[in-house]
Amino acid sequence: MKKQLVEKITAMDEDFAQWYTDVVTKAELVDYSSVRGSMVIRPYGYAICENIKEALDGEIKRTGHENVYMPLLIPESLLQKEKDHIEGFAPEVAWVTHGGEEKLAERLCIRPTSEVLFAEHYKNIVHSYRDLPKLYNQWSNVVRWEKTTRPFLRTLEFLWQEGHTCHETAEDAHEETLRMLEVYADICERVLAIPVIKGRKTEKEKFAGADYTYTIESLMHDGKALQSATSHNLGTGFAKSFGIEFLDRQGTLQPVHQTSWGFTTRIIGAMIMVHGDDQGLVLPPAIAPVQVRIVPIAQHKEGVLDAAYDLKTLLQATTRVDIDASDKKPGWKFNETEMRGIPLRLEIGPKDIEQEKVVLVRRDTGEKVEVANGQIETEIARLLEEIQQGLYEKALAHRLSETRAVQSMEQFDEVLSAHGGFIEAMWCGKRECEDAIKEQTQATSRCIPFESQAVSKNCVCCGEPAHELVYWAKAY
Ligand code: AMP
Repeated sequence: MKKQLVEKITAMDEDFAQWYTDVVTKAELVDYSSVRGSMVIRPYGYAICENIKEALDGEIKRTGHENVYMPLLIPESLLQKEKDHIEGFAPEVAWVTHGGEEKLAERLCIRPTSEVLFAEHYKNIVHSYRDLPKLYNQWSNVVRWEKTTRPFLRTLEFLWQEGHTCHETAEDAHEETLRMLEVYADICERVLAIPVIKGRKTEKEKFAGADYTYTIESLMHDGKALQSATSHNLGTGFAKSFGIEFLDRQGTLQPVHQTSWGFTTRIIGAMIMVHGDDQGLVLPPAIAPVQVRIVPIAQHKEGVLDAAYDLKTLLQATTRVDIDASDKKPGWKFNETEMRGIPLRLEIGPKDIEQEKVVLVRRDTGEKVEVANGQIETEIARLLEEIQQGLYEKALAHRLSETRAVQSMEQFDEVLSAHGGFIEAMWCGKRECEDAIKEQTQATSRCIPFESQAVSKNCVCCGEPAHELVYWAKAY
């Protein structure tokens, strides 16, 4: 039997979960570690993290925020200070109970998020309206003891940024919550080519300790939704519990208005599940660690490797480019380039050199184009743009075609079991209806979108008058 060039991965439509596992391991993004739900992020996966971080960090700074670093450990008494917050996080917290052999007088939790650490610090440094706003962000790891885990999508330890801000007025905090949601949406759409729905979480789904939570939701290839990032308006809840007060312009003592917002390694899982295919990863050029891979053909022939390296030198001024000059067969190299989702493959062999051209192959469509030597740089720039845009449009078309409005629970059930995807349905606002829908269909409320049109006048569940349209879906 002929040996496979590169080990095949499971077909997406056969077993999507297995396909995902195959991609993250065979594209060498992660390795499993001995602690359940923890992952080793390998160099190729980490290079993707770094590119996303660079893009997002630029936006965080452009919008006036400063980076800081907070401690990893939180004393139990500090975590207890905000009642809703501790209630929400208690089941997911990991505790440090010993220092060396000695039992600690007070348990320390490993941060699952850092609201209370920022609150303690803000209490010390905010005294007057002149100290506001405080616009801080930290890049760090956090730990949440998740029951079920999957690389990137839901891990015990994950990497993220968490923004924490203090403002003079409720209006400023509201604007900040929206501004950062817009930043997240922009990074998803422009950089990661993932279309998102912006909206508000229901009371049930909001962040523990927040007044309200805004979210961006995206749809995966298999018709399941993913909460891709969140931005919370914390109101004055933490400020009151921690005593973060300032003298306002009239000389009155007031609690600050706060926000927090987070974006995690989960987004890499989204990118894999939105753009990937049966050949493996498909990376948007904006964050691909390698945008063009040069594969020399018949590289033992005179002049081929020299020409390939000359091209690399030419292209590296404007493009992230590498070359596979190993002794593997070209077919193997092609498959590996595909598995790793590299947007463009550039082939150059003796015939091309003679004809003063190269061959470019697109990862997204498989299309091959011959490009004359003088045109290579401009053609690559154009194709990378086109791939970036094409990935976004394809994902958007998929989401639109997988979004369906329903008017009754019967229809809800039918449509969800036949297709998955997003369901648009009216909701009366009652928690019982939200719970009943989940119980009956396993779909959860994803968000109340900022932009929507009513699809009926009544709640899909109880039939009472309803004004809010909700996006529902089975979700990761
Ligand atoms: P939260 O602070 O709970 O609003 O979480 C912020 C963001 O982190 C969410 O929008 C999720 O996208 C993401 N997230 C939550 N839990 C995990 C996890 N276990 N692994 C990776 N990302 C997560």
